[in-house]
Amino acid sequence: MPKWMCSECGYQLDAEAPPQQCPSCHKDCGFADVTCYTPECGGEKNVNPQVVDILRKQNEPKFK
Ligand SMILES: [Zn+2]
Repeated sequence: MPKWMCSECGYQLDAEAPPQQCPSCHKDCGFADVTCYTPECGGEKNVNPQVVDILRKQNEPKFK
């Protein structure tokens, strides 16, 4: 099952498709697919830490 991360608050969940509204921050935010697709991060039951890191960095300006 793919893993998704909220582009607003960083909340992560497992779902076949991302929800329209984030259950954590209750915004209509974009969910990014953060599933690991390579053996380096352990396969699809893990998130890809590099993708999570990139998303966090992209979102930093919003949190300031
Ligand atoms: Zn959220």
